[in-house]
Amino acid sequence: RSKAEPWRRIVVKLSGEALMGGESHGLDSSTLTRIAIDLSDAAALGVEVAVVVGGGNFFRGIAGADKGIERARADSIGMLATVMNALALEFAIEKQGQSARALSAVPMPSLCEAYSRQAALHHLAKGRIVVLAGGTGNPFFTTDTGAALRGAELSCDLIMKATKVDGVYSADPKRDPTATRYEKLTHDEAIAKNLAVMDTAAFALARENRIPILVFSILDAGAICAALQGKGRATFVSP
Ligand code: UDP
Repeated sequence: RSKAEPWRRIVVKLSGEALMGGESHGLDSSTLTRIAIDLSDAAALGVEVAVVVGGGNFFRGIAGADKGIERARADSIGMLATVMNALALEFAIEKQGQSARALSAVPMPSLCEAYSRQAALHHLAKGRIVVLAGGTGNPFFTTDTGAALRGAELSCDLIMKATKVDGVYSADPKRDPTATRYEKLTHDEAIAKNLAVMDTAAFALARENRIPILVFSILDAGAICAALQGKGRATFVSP
């Protein structure tokens, strides 16, 4: 597969920060709308779209642990943060006239459906965008790992990792002006070069299951659709 080939089913990893826009925390409604439009347009291309949302715009387990909350409990709070984002994104997508379902790995039946593989596949087959909350449902993991896990179990043919930069660089482009962007990488090259594409556990899962990862910037309108269609700048990590 090359990055311009049509994809059948994708999982998009959106960090909580991606939903924050210019705010210092929480949700920015114009950013939420922009991303909801982009996701709806992706679904309109005929691609089945799953989205794993982070929670860092509200709470991160590690930050909580630094403040003295035991890690497992802090991670529970972090997972709740991802549910807040998922409920907001589900609503923003539906407002665009595109059907969406939030599914939570931590069952919260009065707020949304609980995640199961069957339910997710059912909604995807119906053309609904599935918004996955709660990450893996376990502490000591991240939503990056949640995205790789759902990518594997839902047989997604692509993980789209939304970031603030347009791909994977040889060094941090914000600090090192000589940093260069990779157009393409293999999973093995990313490891050999010590490039942080996703966190280690997430990357290991993607590599073991031979799922390509497209790293792209979410800052511009239409970024997801452009990246999906092989337009715009991105790094394509494939086996
Ligand atoms: N989290 C967790 N298990 C998971 C996914 C997330 O415990 O499988 C918690 C963890 O505390 C994490 C927080 O939820 O810090 C928010 O997720 P993440 O940090 O991945 O969000 P992002 O940085 O993508 O916004």
